[in-house]
Parts: sequence; C-alpha cells; structure tokens
Amino acid sequence: MFGMPRLQIRKSFIALLLLAFHQVGMAQIVKNIDQFNAAVKQAKAGDTIVMANGEWHDVELVLTGSGTEENPITLKAQTPGKVKITGVSNLSFSGEYLVVDGLFFTDGHTPTGEVIAFRTSPDDLANHSRLTNTVIDNFSHPERELSDLWVAIYGKHNRIDHNSFINKRNRGVTVAVRMNSEGSRKNYHTIEYNYFGPRQVLGANGGETLRIGTSHFSREYANTLVQYNYFDRTSGEHEIISNKSSGNTFKGNVFFEAQGTLTMRHGHYTTVENNYFLGNRKPNTGGIRIINEHQTVKNNYLYGLTGRRFRGALVIMNGVPNSPPNRYDPVIESVMNNNLVIDSDYIQLGAGADEERSAPPTTSEMKNNIMLGKQNLNPITVFDDVSGIEFSGNVLNEDANNPIGAGFKAAPYAIHKNENGLYVPEQSLLDAIDFGEVKLPVEKADTGAPYYPKKDHQVAFNSGKTIAVKPGIDTLAMALANSSAGDTLVLENGGDYLLTRFATVHHPITIMAKAGDKPMIRSEKPSFIVIENGGALEVENLWFDGAASPDYKGNSIIRTSRYSMNINYALSVKNVKVTDLDINGYFYFFKAHPGTFADYIEIIDSQMSNITGAVLSLNKETEDLGVYSVENLTLTGNTFKDIKEEVATVYRGGFDESTFGPKVTITDNLLTNVGKGKTHRTAASMYFHGVQNLHISNTTIKDSAPISMYLTNGEPITVLDNLQLINTPNIKSNSDDYTAKDITYQ
Ligand code: CA
Repeated sequence: MFGMPRLQIRKSFIALLLLAFHQVGMAQIVKNIDQFNAAVKQAKAGDTIVMANGEWHDVELVLTGSGTEENPITLKAQTPGKVKITGVSNLSFSGEYLVVDGLFFTDGHTPTGEVIAFRTSPDDLANHSRLTNTVIDNFSHPERELSDLWVAIYGKHNRIDHNSFINKRNRGVTVAVRMNSEGSRKNYHTIEYNYFGPRQVLGANGGETLRIGTSHFSREYANTLVQYNYFDRTSGEHEIISNKSSGNTFKGNVFFEAQGTLTMRHGHYTTVENNYFLGNRKPNTGGIRIINEHQTVKNNYLYGLTGRRFRGALVIMNGVPNSPPNRYDPVIESVMNNNLVIDSDYIQLGAGADEERSAPPTTSEMKNNIMLGKQNLNPITVFDDVSGIEFSGNVLNEDANNPIGAGFKAAPYAIHKNENGLYVPEQSLLDAIDFGEVKLPVEKADTGAPYYPKKDHQVAFNSGKTIAVKPGIDTLAMALANSSAGDTLVLENGGDYLLTRFATVHHPITIMAKAGDKPMIRSEKPSFIVIENGGALEVENLWFDGAASPDYKGNSIIRTSRYSMNINYALSVKNVKVTDLDINGYFYFFKAHPGTFADYIEIIDSQMSNITGAVLSLNKETEDLGVYSVENLTLTGNTFKDIKEEVATVYRGGFDESTFGPKVTITDNLLTNVGKGKTHRTAASMYFHGVQNLHISNTTIKDSAPISMYLTNGEPITVLDNLQLINTPNIKSNSDDYTAKDITYQ
C-alpha cells in the first residue's frame, strides 16, 4: 500500500465500501420469467435481482417489495443495455425503495396502457423508488392512433434519472406524472438528466413529451422537480411539456430544435427558471407559455424560436372568467422576468383572447427581459388589455415596433457568439439584468443512459448506393426488394418497365432517371408502388401510364399501406409525367390510407393528365378530432389537365389546438378542366378544410371547379395571391378572413 497515490487509495476504499454495501443482501441472476418471479417473491431489503443478458421476449415483469433507504431492492441488467426486453412486454413495480437499473426496451410495445408503471394496481404504488440508466427506443404500438404512456409515474418521492426515451411514434405522452389518487399527489418526484430523443410530429393531440397531472386534478399540488433534462427535437405536438398541476419546478432543461412549448396548461405556483430553448430558426419552435396564477418565469434563454401564436417564445394567455378546470384560468400574480430572447419572432400577450377567453392578465409583471431579434420587427403582439401587466426595464431592438410604450428601452441589434457557442447581446445588457453566464445548464452527453447512442434514425434520400435497373418485367419490384435505406434506383432513359406485382417501399428510396427521355412505368396491379411502414419515396424524371392497369375502380399509382403506419413517411415527386389513369373510375395518382402521416408531400415540375380520380387523395378523418394526414404539402410548377376530382384535398376537422399543421403551399401551377367529375363530392378543384397555413399563388385555373376552403380555429394564415380564374367560379369559403390579392376573372 505504501507509495500508492492518495487518489488510488481513496478509490480502493470506495470500491471496498461499495462491495460491502452490496453484500448486505443477495444478488441473484435470473434467466427467465419464472426465475424472475421466484426471485421477486423472496426479495428482501438489500437484495439485487440481476436479469441475465439476452433477449426477454413477451414478458410482463412485475416487481413488488419493500426495501429501505439504505438497503433498497434493486432490479438490474447484468450489463446495462444488454438486457433487451422485446415483443409484447412491460414492467410494473410497487412498494418502497425499489431501483430499476439498466434495462433496454426495444422492438415491441406494451400490452397495457403503460410500458413502465410505478404501480402494480390502482392501490399498489411505488414510493421512494428510482428508474435509472434505462432505455426505451422503438417500442411504439403499431397503431399510431392507439394511446399509451412509456413511463407512468405514480406514488411519491420517486426519481427518474439518466434514462433515454427515443422515438415514441404512437399517440400518448412519453413520460406522465399521474395524480389520480391521493397517494400520487404532493409527490416530490425528481425527473433529471434524462435524454428525451426525437419524437416525430404526431398530427393530432396526444404527442406531449412530458405531462404532470391532468386537467381533472389540476388544482392539486404535484410538487414535481424537472431539471437538467435534454429535449432533443421532441416535436410530437405543440405541448412539449404540459404542466397540469400546481407547485412544479422546471429548471436547467435544454430544448433543442423542439417544436412546441413548455406550457403551464393548468395549475398554479410553477417555477420555470434557467431553461435553454435553442430553436435555431427551425419551424414551429417555441418557448414558454403562461396560463394560471402565481407562475414564475425567469432567467431563461430563448434563441431562434420561430413559433407563432401559442407557440411563441414568450406567451401570456388570456383566461376564461370562472373557468372550469379543463379550460383556462386567468393569469394572476405571475412574473416573466429577466429572460434573454434572441432572434425569436413572437412574444404574445393576452394570447387566445376571444369571447370565451375574455379575462386579460392581472397583477402580473414583465421586467428586465432582453428581446433582440431582427427577423420580425413586430415581435410583440398585444391581443387584449395588458394594463394588468407591469412593464419595466425591458430591452427591445431599436428597429422593432413597440406596441406597449413605457417599460421598454431600445438597443441596437448587436449579437455575437460567446465562448460557449451561444448568441448573446452586449455584456452591459446582461450585467444590467444580472443574467449570469450564458451557458447550457446541461450537456446532451451528460443526459440519458450513458451506454446508449443518441444517433439519428432518419435516413436521407440519396444517401446510399446507386443501382442501375434494366427495363423489363418486374425489374423495378426486384430492385426495390433488394435495396437498402437511402439507395437510388436509376432507370434507363426511354426504357419500358412493367410491374405484374406490387413494388413495395420499406425504407427511404429514390427511383429516378437521368436527364433525357423518361422511362415509362406501367402496372397490372391496382397500385404501382406501395409505401409500407418505414418507407419514404422520391421519384424523379419518370413517366407513369395507366394503360395496363386492371379494369376496376379505385386504382392508384402510389399509395400508403392499408394498415396503420406508426413511422411518418415522405413523398417527393419531381419532373414526373402521368397519363391516362382512366381505365375505370376513381384512379388516383396518390392515395393515403387512414392511420398514416406524411411529414411532407411535394409535387414539383410535373405534368399530369386524364385522371378519373384525384391527384392526391389524402385520408379524411370522420370523427373531427383534429387528426390529419400531411404536415407540409407543396405543389409547384405543375400542369394538371382533365382531372375528374381535386388536385388536392387536405382536411383537418374539429377545433383542437394542439397541432401546427397542415401547411399547404401551391405556386406556379396550371389547372385545366379539374374537379368537374359528375360524382365528385366536394365539387372543387382544390379543397382545404382546417389548414393552418395556406398559400396559393401565381396559379391559373381554367375551365375548372372552384377552389373551396373551410377556415376553422387557430387563426389560420390564408393567402391567395396572383390567381387567374378563367371560366372558373369564384373562390368558395365559409369565412372572408383571408388575404386575396391580384385575383383576376375571365
Ligand atoms: Ca396536448
């Protein structure tokens, strides 16, 4: 021992101590569910149940027991990350001082409503327990609209730390603090150092990443602490965090390019402090939204947030007088102070003001905020009387308009990157509000299960091999079957390709021909190409012709799976010719089935003619719950001629306010004889219902049915610009609350 460095001695000593600590109870390796259950039955304080490395398929793990603070009962992986729980599986536990450590849930889904539950029955909850070092990735129910929770926290004094929750794809909150019994209220849980990995846009309500409470119990106290977590592109819906109870604290969290906001949806006495929102000018990125009483928002850093309306960088809502618990309590005694808002577009005060939400904020303050942005020079929007907010010491870009007046001083827009890589204003401005060092409170690398990579799952088009495909029968279907994600299939210029089977797409793939004569593709099946779950398709410089298609109604060139797809897809169509989809009725270019969702669909520089159905037939929900089918739709530079139904129909029904889309951009198109089929139900050439952002410009519509619009809630942006309507009826709309300029009629 002599001569051993002091540090070494200390390390050995700690190791010895740890060994002694572990020897208090039994450590038992279990290799299957029966051994697991037997070990649980005998587990006493201090015992450790070690799950053997390997795959645990179709297991419902139920752990009950009573440990003590010094001697918990531990369930752990033999090697963290090497215990793979797959198939139809879940874990629930209840009792006192339980630790779950190092499990990996993948390639499956839960049979119940929860993957990991801090309870084993409504009456048996887990207290003083810990979930750590655990990963849930690719464990979504295959039905995207079926709701479940990945982690449901019940009981009191639980800690959820250093876990990775990645890619939840079906409906339902990723991590929820439940409060539906007395035993789960005033819970003092700590949720810290977790990595919340990417969550795709759900296209409906129910895509929250973290929720604490529900509207039912929103006036109860949770007293949950959420700190030092990393929210990486958690973009399921507009509430990244839905705070629905009182007494919670959110501090030191990082939100990286996440669409949505930290929303104080219900409950009072919330603290939101020292969180960093890095929008990097990505669409729909938002900050913090205040509703309710005694909310404290201070010292947060918000950069590059582009979200508007409820998704602004800083939002203070209007409330409902004598609000029922599920609506909006007015903002009272709340502060929004000392925040640093850089290059962000929207600060909304009295947001949501309408006949119902008629109570403006009162006895509140907004002080010492630095708001320097140049992209939107009208960053502050005032929707109602804001005399109930005391303004002082705020700083605004001198070029920006200030609708409030007193309480603001102007400063030049002078921003630089500091030594921590973050954009900051002049030091004197920071000193004046005592902001402290501008530095991420937690690094991504210090969050989540350390053994699990934080890699991106998405594969880009044209990122793989280039594969030449000879003309002939089913050569394309074979090439697709043998392809890998990101590959590019190159067809011969002028070649003839016949499909006698479905060409199926299971991963991102590009099918194209080089510049020159388009190869012609025909099919004897009712659909040429089927996008299955996990698929995404780009087609370029091809010719699809319907002459060989079967003589039935309802054919399509491209369609999605008929079954639910829990992975969002994309469809890009460039410089494509489509002819003679007329062998029978309702022949569609593209058909999306229910239970599917596209991040984007684009048709660019294409010519389509003689179609008995629609160009795009996107599934329409019947329940009007705000479930829609495409986030971004773009049609640019196309000609559409002799189309019996619409060029496009996009439908988002109901009055739900949780989503951003759909967004539709239609520019530089020529439509001739579109939408005049005798059995065509919408009697429109293009039909848009509930679209949140609609731009139609530089487009000529000739001898066609009208554009038809139904504008619903969410203050949709609707702009029609430079349209020529020739022998075509005027635009039909339920509301005149849209912008129309340079519309000519002949
Ligand atoms: Ca929601």
